[in-house]
Amino acid sequence: MSETKIALVTGANKGIGYEIAAGLGALGHRVGVGARNEARRSSAVEKLRAAGVDAFEVPLDVTDDGSVTEAAALIERQAGRLDVLVNNAGISGDMGPGWVQDPSTLDLDLVRTVVETNVIGVIRVTNAMLPLLRRSASPRIVNVSSAVASLTRQADPNIEIGPIMAAYAPSKSFLNAVTLQYARHLADTNILINAACPGLVATDFTAFHGPRTPQQGAATAIHLATLPNNGPTGSFAEDEGIIPW
Ligand code: NAP
Repeated sequence: MSETKIALVTGANKGIGYEIAAGLGALGHRVGVGARNEARRSSAVEKLRAAGVDAFEVPLDVTDDGSVTEAAALIERQAGRLDVLVNNAGISGDMGPGWVQDPSTLDLDLVRTVVETNVIGVIRVTNAMLPLLRRSASPRIVNVSSAVASLTRQADPNIEIGPIMAAYAPSKSFLNAVTLQYARHLADTNILINAACPGLVATDFTAFHGPRTPQQGAATAIHLATLPNNGPTGSFAEDEGIIPW
């Protein structure tokens, strides 16, 4: 088996996903840039290659069965296996006035769209890639979640957790619950699966508000993507350590 690790990062054309791809590339991984928009995908791959990363394009819309099946076939042709899957692609869904998603006026189609990308998309991609991950000597899956999904923090009135995001935050709590289901299912395998929070990062997602850079936001996901064999599985982490569910 070749020594070079093969990684796929979804939503890697910009923001935190791009920096996860760059960081894994700098560590010597060959990185598939999963992205749905052709122009943004090519320019990200070009930029990564210019920085010395062995990057390749993976056309990928996480909400589309055919696209995800094709992506798995492409990685099989290109590399024959997958060592690292980072499920980073995610959306907030439209935010209402004051950057709030009010539960009492929530558009149901918005909820469906957010869950389709942030949860069902992750299940779709993970299940398509699992046969390739099972061929790796040390497979790692990272689901990019958010601390706003922590039910413990949301339930504690003494913790400042940011605006109400009635579609987005529960979608990431759902993702966390799904992460635990996989961790339980994969407990007797060498596959480690964990959830990462990047912190509040200045990207398109936050209209470029937030104290952290995309590079800083990528750090926990990169750490979890490169865990040693005795590393944790079924955990939820940020830079400062474990986040309570
Ligand atoms: P971003 O700059 O908006 O990037 C999101 C990425 O996801 C883009 O590459 C986007 O592709 C991709 N994407 C969305 N829907 C997709 C789909 N159906 N198929 C494939 N790719 C899709 O946001 P970001 O801040 O880097 O967010 C990355 C992850 O971090 C998300 O999961 C987000 O929930 C999480 N997060 C972010 C923050 C923060 O403060 N920024 C905090 C906590 C968690 P297009 O360019 O094609 O739209």
